[in-house]
Amino acid sequence: MNSIKSQFKSIPESLALHSWEQVVELVTSKNHTLPMQHHRAGILLNRTYFFAIIFSILTPAWILIEWPLLPWPLWGELALFRVFASGLFLLIAWQCKKDHSLNRAMVLMGCLFVLPVLFFLFSQPLSAPYELSYFQKLDISLYSLLPFVIVAGLSLFPLSLKEFLFYSIPVFVIIVYSSQLENGNPIYINLSDVWLFLLILGVSLFSSLNQLRYMISQTSVASYDELTGALTRRAGIEALELQFRLANLNSNNMSLAFIDLDHFKSINDDFGHDAGDEALKSATHSLMDTLRKGDFIIRWGGEEFVVILPGTSEESSRVVIERILHQGLGGRPDGSPLTASIGISDLNHDKAHYWKELVELADERMYQAKKGGRARAIDYLEEAMTWALEKKDIKTNQPPTV
Ligand code: GH3
Ligand code: MG
Ligand code: MG
Repeated sequence: MNSIKSQFKSIPESLALHSWEQVVELVTSKNHTLPMQHHRAGILLNRTYFFAIIFSILTPAWILIEWPLLPWPLWGELALFRVFASGLFLLIAWQCKKDHSLNRAMVLMGCLFVLPVLFFLFSQPLSAPYELSYFQKLDISLYSLLPFVIVAGLSLFPLSLKEFLFYSIPVFVIIVYSSQLENGNPIYINLSDVWLFLLILGVSLFSSLNQLRYMISQTSVASYDELTGALTRRAGIEALELQFRLANLNSNNMSLAFIDLDHFKSINDDFGHDAGDEALKSATHSLMDTLRKGDFIIRWGGEEFVVILPGTSEESSRVVIERILHQGLGGRPDGSPLTASIGISDLNHDKAHYWKELVELADERMYQAKKGGRARAIDYLEEAMTWALEKKDIKTNQPPTV
């Protein structure tokens, strides 16, 4: 009994699952982080592209085998279908090179898998009226392997359980259905086919989930800054690109805040690097508490952060910044408030053509805030919003210097 229990325990272990959230991440992609969705879409599309190109070459190439082997018009009909399918594979490959969205990846993968299954379905009624020789039958029987190839092929894609079942269950139904047709008996199923299919399906599912698990852990290491938990600059740039594109696509607004902590070096100098690290951590956590769930905090470098506020109207971005100025960014080791200089840019107001322009404008305004005396924000109208803390707190510890 104990050994059975330990066998069951080793299944989650082999997928490196240690918490319920990690299990949910493998079941559905609903809670995947944005960098994860973005990376996975890229990988799924790259693999779909690769297979679409290979299939577009191999599918018509087989005409050279069937032309001398099969009787006319059977080889002609199959050849016609092959040329048509090759064109569709090229179309799929072409579509893969457009934008990297997860929905696009899912649809194109579906198209990639549907074509071989259609081949399998058409090959049976097309060849049925012919008296075929051993080698001709051998060629036609290769078509019945296609659904198995599809399920084995799923192992090369990092998919959640739900996605995997979405693609494999229809193929399973087709296998059962065609096995009944073959036997001419509505209740008799060729068990060896089904067994083989389930065996391949199990191995394939394990491999697919394993890839997904590995991707999630790699992406979270690469996307989140270890010290603060904010997005790394690299992942942040991807988020900026995506949010900028979405805002333009949906005619939404977005705002950016460039935040540079004031006199941060003096924390390190006066209290040591560890105290500086703690202050950085608490500043980021204060920001996280103040912002909405859909906002992004990027550690742009050292003690500089870029905050993306998607779908925020010009006025409400000011409200968000006021909230930051009001709630603060935690304290310095001596108990005085840690302040920042903040520059704000706004897509609608600044009419930026590229996300970089928004970052540059916010950065310029952040410098204006520094020059103006720190502990303040300069908004997109270039108006100053001051830190909502008692002036004496700031003055006693770090007098603003220009
Ligand atoms: P200003 O108000 O003009 O922005 O002054 P500042 O001291 O904040 O700016 P400066 O660019 O002179 O110094 C930034 C400091 O931030 C220097 C660097 O040691 C510190 N810093 C950057 N990253 C980290 C980090 O991860 N941990 C710690 N402890 N300090 C860091
Ligand atoms: Mg700085
Ligand atoms: Mg600074």
